[in-house]
Amino acid sequence: MIANAALAQDRQLILVGNLIPDAATGPVGPATLVVIDGKIVEVTTQREIDKAGVADAMEADAVINLRDKTVMPGLIDLHVHLTGDPGGDFWKEATEPAEWGVVVGAKNALLTAKAGFTTVREAGSSQYSAFSLRRGTADGIIPGPRIIAAGPALAIVGGHGDVSGFTEDINKVLTSGYSCTGAVQCAEKVRKASRAGSDVIKITATGGVLSQQGRGLEAQFTNEEMRSIADTAHSLGLKVMAHAHGARGIEAASRAGIDTIEHGTFADEAALKVMKTNGTAMVPTLMAFQGVSEGLGKGIYTPVVEEKIRMTLGNVGKAVTSAKRLGVPIVFGTDAGVFDHGRNAGGFQVMVNAGLTPREAITSATTAAAKALDMDMEIGRIAVGYSADLIAFDGNPLDDVTVLEKVDWVMVRGRVID
Ligand SMILES: [Zn+2]
Repeated sequence: MIANAALAQDRQLILVGNLIPDAATGPVGPATLVVIDGKIVEVTTQREIDKAGVADAMEADAVINLRDKTVMPGLIDLHVHLTGDPGGDFWKEATEPAEWGVVVGAKNALLTAKAGFTTVREAGSSQYSAFSLRRGTADGIIPGPRIIAAGPALAIVGGHGDVSGFTEDINKVLTSGYSCTGAVQCAEKVRKASRAGSDVIKITATGGVLSQQGRGLEAQFTNEEMRSIADTAHSLGLKVMAHAHGARGIEAASRAGIDTIEHGTFADEAALKVMKTNGTAMVPTLMAFQGVSEGLGKGIYTPVVEEKIRMTLGNVGKAVTSAKRLGVPIVFGTDAGVFDHGRNAGGFQVMVNAGLTPREAITSATTAAAKALDMDMEIGRIAVGYSADLIAFDGNPLDDVTVLEKVDWVMVRGRVID
């Protein structure tokens, strides 16, 4: 890994068989890329090479030959939980220290990068484990994607995201310290998360499927609390991502100024229209339901959770179809951690099944995702000045998105992941 970090400083020449610089452009044929210090400094297509007779190979410190591969921008997953693995044992939060999350996260960061995901948004981790992981991948000590980290999620007392399912004595000990009641306390928790290092504020706006509380899937925070969270976060330059399943909870979150709705399972016409008006993006995490459904009836989930899963599954994908029709921005997120890390790209076919074209599905994980992060001048396309976040594979994903499930080569910030 240290060797890779050193390599990132050098001039690397990448020979590309078929370049997709941007989901909107599509394939442009053979090309040559020059990467220095983690950034793309030259993009030359074959036509330009033929004309000028460029002989860049002589000047490079390293030549990477991808002449028989398709190369496109690294993928972006806006909803992962790197510090955790799937498993229904809710009591684990009482037995596993937060530090263990960094160890598990290091393993998952590598799996995620190897799957072609060069940027992820960490959607909630045990205490501050995601922040150490973020630094580890940024410094090249841990091979993995660029991490935009939420850290601990804000929740209502005993709600989804807070601890539940134990006796009150135990709940009190295990709480993350980020549950809040009332506008003032919620604002304070946003500032505390900001001080601790959050890049984005994660809240659980409604009930959730995989927690032990059986209080439905509608709004848990009050409108006043959500508005306070959004306003406080925005005043600190942070966006807010809200876990939300129920329609009225989704609508309330969008009205409060939340930036992205995670899951959005039961979003109806009224909720989606409010999202469209407010420019709220949807992160559907369809892959999570795929993963969770594979574990049903196997004694993995407690009865309260299993019932919520069954209630949710019938609706999966419907909100995405309506969101597309109404023009709500759809961005790619999987909820990896609920299912095995490294299967993230399985989400593309699920999105296509829900009615997106391959181009729309790929856009959702490149340019659209970069825009949702306010990083569209840095990631999401292959162009001069952009981060050298690249993936190589066989085939054309605009014809068949499943080719993205077999990525052969990955570069994050100029470092080859191997
Ligand atoms: Zn999640």
